Formats: sequence, structure tokens, C-alpha cells
Amino acid sequence: MSLRTLESLGSLSGKRVIVRCDLNVPLQDGVITDDGRVRASLATLNALINQGARVIVVSHLGRPDGKPDAKHSLAPVAQRLSELLGKPVAFARDTVGVSAAEAVDALENGDVAVLENLRFNAGETSKDDAVRGAFAAELAALGDAMVSDGFGVVHRKQASVYDLAQLLPSAAGLLIAAELKVLDRLTETPERPYTVVLGGSKVSDKLGVIGHLLPRVDNLLIGGGMLFTFLAAQGHKVGSSLLEPDQIPQVLEYLKTAAELGVTIGIPTDVVVASKFGADADYMVTPAHAIEDTPYGASGIGLDIGPVTAAAFAEAIRGSNTVFWNGPMGVFELVPFAAGTRAVAEALTEVDGLSVVGGGDSAAAVRQLGFTDEQFGHISTGGGASLEFLEGKKLPGLEVLGWS
Ligand code: ADP
Ligand code: MG
Repeated sequence: MSLRTLESLGSLSGKRVIVRCDLNVPLQDGVITDDGRVRASLATLNALINQGARVIVVSHLGRPDGKPDAKHSLAPVAQRLSELLGKPVAFARDTVGVSAAEAVDALENGDVAVLENLRFNAGETSKDDAVRGAFAAELAALGDAMVSDGFGVVHRKQASVYDLAQLLPSAAGLLIAAELKVLDRLTETPERPYTVVLGGSKVSDKLGVIGHLLPRVDNLLIGGGMLFTFLAAQGHKVGSSLLEPDQIPQVLEYLKTAAELGVTIGIPTDVVVASKFGADADYMVTPAHAIEDTPYGASGIGLDIGPVTAAAFAEAIRGSNTVFWNGPMGVFELVPFAAGTRAVAEALTEVDGLSVVGGGDSAAAVRQLGFTDEQFGHISTGGGASLEFLEGKKLPGLEVLGWS
């Protein structure tokens, strides 16, 4: 079955439409450092506004602990959305409480309100179906229809993504439809050689996808926090770098499978090691097998791939016809540790075939490093979601919209 589209909801004029967006933008001291996800939500929101719907935007931001937490407020996002839409956007200080009810009641046709962070409510991410369902029912009471457009969260069985879509007439928004069109090309018949580049910090999440990706790709390049679990599996010491020792047996298994399948796994041969985590740290390039042999000893922490590795990765990428990249190669937010990510991004812009960047931080990284969206085939708003899609997994937030 295929995804239910906006049209399947019929006329939405005058209807209260809850739109589940992914407005989980990076913030620094309350200032949005990359508004890509807000921009990505505009197509659907404008389509609904133009139909005269009463638009109720819901999203999560960061990982608050199921209760209100001012530093994860969506208020700056509502402000930015208002600027980008060029019209006032109301903001409710809660998600399903008095403020939300008031904001929704006050909506006229074509108006927009943003409700406070979904994850201020423990029900949003609860593993207990009843608890989640109860929160979804409170959300459902605010609307007449639901549009799911937060591609970054479709792999999550969460109240606003999964349960809510069952409680109200629901359909996929334009962003989800656009994302799936590109990702489908990567799963159906990717042009070979096909290279996947993995990095970032969510090590255990991302290690998990490798087993499913191996049979589908020609090259798998490993950077970011997870590279140290690979180095440890090769018998190297990794100082104070990110490491998931429990995953070493799994990684060894992957290396064996890759050899059997003829898949090349690119493991860094040099890394940038820092004396500590911070912009003012001392740092140096070292061979990957000598991380603890620097002046920083065992307290040295690997924060980027080294230049030799970056050049090798860039060459593999440029020689590919299809490339998917998720996860920065290093701590790109700090200038001394951004070179690996820059080299990989640069190489992606030189790919003749299809190049896709996925993931909130990866997208933020390429923009922060001065690349434009047009230099890539596609910039996906979803990291984990796009990876799970490429693995061929059934994603709860898509299945509930009719996708199979
Ligand atoms: P995405 O959002 O693109 O899916 P992640 O959320 O998994 O990516 O990871 C992004 C973060 O990974 C960045 O904030 C970056 O600083 C961090 N990172 C990359 N390399 C390392 C490393 N070697 N050690 C610690 N953090 C790292
Ligand atoms: Mg991230």
C-alpha cells in the first residue's frame, strides 16, 4: 500500500489540523544555529494555510526528561517559523493543557499555533502503550485531522507519531513524501559503486544498522565516535575516546561478514587526538594505532579523522555513483576538529551520481561549513530514520500512514 497523501484528507478548510513536524533544531544559548528543519516544514504548512486550515504545529526538541525544561522550549522555533512564514504564529506554553486549548480555540482559518515541546510530557515517548495512548488521546482532542511530516521521527513508535495517526484521519505531509521519493532510489536500484559513510555520536544506534547495510553496499566508511570501537576491535588502545566495549564482538562479526561479501570497510588509519574535549584543547594527528602514545597518554581523546584517512575517504566517495552519508566525521562544531567532515562534504559535492546527506547534525555541519543545499543531491532531515529506511526496516510512523 502507498502512503496516504494530503489530498486523501479532503477539504481542510476550517478544520483544526495537527501537524507533527520535526523542528528539533540545534540551539546555542537559545539561538537557532541551523534552521534547516524549520524551512523543510514550510511546504506542508503553507499548503494547509492556503487551504484555510487551522494549523496546530507539534514537535519535540532535544531530550528533556518527560517534564518541562525551559532550555528545551520551542519558543525560539515558533518565532523563527513566524519569520519564515511571514505571518504571526501563536505559541502555547504547554502541549495539551490550558494554554494549548486557548491557543487552538483562538485560531481562525489559515492561522498557525505552535504547541510546547511534546517531550515535556512523559507519555510522548513511553514504552507503555496505555500511557502513550492516553497522551495521544489528549492531543487528538485538539484536532480534527493529523498530518505527519516529521520525517526525522518516523522510525519512533511515539504518541504524536504513531498513536495520534490512528486516532484522527491522518496523512503524510509533503516533506515525508519528498524524502521517501529520494530514499526509494537508494533502496531500489542504487547505481554502483554505492558508498555509505557513517559517523556522529550515537554509536550504538549506528553500529546496529551496519549488519543490514553490508549486503547492500560496496564501501562502508567509518568515522565519528564509532570509529574507536572499530579501532578497539582491531586491538588498538583508544585513550578516552568514545568507545562501546560491549559492541566489539559485533564489530568483529561485521568485519568478517564484510570480507565474505567483498565489501570494503574503511577504518581510519590516522586520527586527531586532543588533550581534552574543548575548543582550547591541545591536539595533534597520530596514527590510529598510537592514540595513547601522544603527550596526552590515556587521557587523549580522538575528535576527528586524520588527514590521510580524510583523503582516502574522499577518493572512495568521488569514485562512487551513489553515496549516502550520515554522521559528522568529527566534532565539527569546534574548528580544529572539522577538517574530516569538511573533506567528506567536499567529496560528496563532486559525486556525479546521487549524493544524499542525512541527519540533523550532518545537515547542520555542511551548512555551517559553508556548503549550500544545492551542492548535494538531497539533504534529508532524518538521520536515524533514513538509515533505518535504507536498512529495509518497517518504520512505525510510515506504516501507520499506509506505507508498506
Ligand atoms: P546526525 O544528527 O547527523 O545523525 P549524530 O547525532 O549521531 O549525527 O552525531 C552528531 C555529533 O557527533 C556531533 O555533535 C559531533 O560533534 C559528534 N561527534 C563526531 N565525532 C565525534 C567524536 N570523535 N567524539 C565525540 N563526538 C563526536
Ligand atoms: Mg543528531
